[in-house]
Amino acid sequence: MRVRSLEFGQRAQEAVLDQQLQRNLQRIGVRFKVGRDMAFAALEDPEGLRNLGRAIKERSLANLPHLLETLEAKVKEAGGTVHWACNAKEACRIVCDLAKQRAVRTVVKGKSMVTEEIGLNQALEAEGIEVWETDLGEFIIQLAGEPPSHIIGPAVHKSKEQIAELFAEKLGSPKAQAPEELTKIAREKLREKFVKADMGITGANAAVAETGSIVLLENEGNIRLSVTAPRIHVALMGIEKVIPTLEDLAVILALLPRSATGQKLSSYTSIITGPRREAELDGPEEFHLILLDNGRSRILADPDRRQSLYCLRCGSCLNVCPVYRKVGGHSYGWVYSGPIGAVLTPQLVPARLARQLPFASTLCGACAEVCPVKIELPKLLLTMRQRLTEDPNFDGGIPLLVRLAARFHGWLLTHPRLYRLAMDGARAASRVLVRDGRWLWLPPPLSQWARNRHIPTPARPFSSTWPKLKKELVQGGEGA
Ligand code: SF4
Repeated sequence: MRVRSLEFGQRAQEAVLDQQLQRNLQRIGVRFKVGRDMAFAALEDPEGLRNLGRAIKERSLANLPHLLETLEAKVKEAGGTVHWACNAKEACRIVCDLAKQRAVRTVVKGKSMVTEEIGLNQALEAEGIEVWETDLGEFIIQLAGEPPSHIIGPAVHKSKEQIAELFAEKLGSPKAQAPEELTKIAREKLREKFVKADMGITGANAAVAETGSIVLLENEGNIRLSVTAPRIHVALMGIEKVIPTLEDLAVILALLPRSATGQKLSSYTSIITGPRREAELDGPEEFHLILLDNGRSRILADPDRRQSLYCLRCGSCLNVCPVYRKVGGHSYGWVYSGPIGAVLTPQLVPARLARQLPFASTLCGACAEVCPVKIELPKLLLTMRQRLTEDPNFDGGIPLLVRLAARFHGWLLTHPRLYRLAMDGARAASRVLVRDGRWLWLPPPLSQWARNRHIPTPARPFSSTWPKLKKELVQGGEGA
């Protein structure tokens, strides 16, 4: 997938002005965030569970080579094949070769961020192979020719009316509006593809080294069909997804659906160990597991950034991020969006192509508050910022005037008297220039910055109101 993260500023501005998108984005917070908060509040010891989750990821990554070797041995023992892919190109080549050697014409896919990361659909289509996304959200964005805009809800940026229009245009269906009808239309279209498909491709939410199993969570049942109906199942996963034992999996299963959708457990949890065995009725004849590095070893070797690999891809940090909720996933210009996207993208693609992303955060810390494995996202964002600004060629795409203004503001904050004087001046100016809570005029570059923001009128400093307040408190106390 082409990296378009350098367009972040322009895309964010377009997103802010798109009223329909703004309405759709608002829903995300309500739908996912409230569910997540209620699911965790119902737990006896949510913090304890999150600590356990983090400890599992820490331990797994500390033993990664050993765990991956164990996983490989166990998958082979169960009759599967393991492939190692250094980068996106290699992973795509492995899948395309498998498909060509086995005369595959149609592929059905379960939702997988890692296949988006490597651009697998495009690679297969270039070989003349038909690819169908079977997750409803992925199916919608495939029809729309768009990348996902959210880690777990790829099409959350679209309203049901927009989806109805898309289905009518691309599938020739009547303009149905009810979600059930839209789901039925997609299901009917996909049913024939499941029957025709020779290969099913999925990601993996986790892999268990001790049993050689991959684990897939879903709510629609489409992944189950994708892995059982076709004769070949190919699973792609980033090497960081491996965990040691089924006991560890129990913790991940308790955390991931709660964080993602507020569910205690996903509707379907599949633990797949190798291909179909003798006397079994369902399942593929061949099972292939592709272990993808694509820059992950480099992240692992960096103690300051290693924790970015703990991510379970639950999407929780996106749902609470004020920046994501205003600009949407497409503004980030690559597969991963929101706070984790701002951390991962500059590490997985050449950093210069995503240099604005770590700066697209208020550092409010909401993301770290909800992360099920306690990734210190604000700390990572600061580390990324520091690394980027240490590069002598870095300008972050930020105009010189804005950088100078920020520097001046920093200087002003360290000179309290001048700062107070400036604030007094701003307050005096606001008496003339503010109407109905909005500034009528501001000097550049403030005017540019304020275009899509509400600039508050400077309040009187607390130090000036304190003597009066103190007097009132003392008098009140004496009266009591
Ligand atoms: S960083 Fe944490 S909250 Fe964000 S997607 Fe990953 S696991 Fe979920």
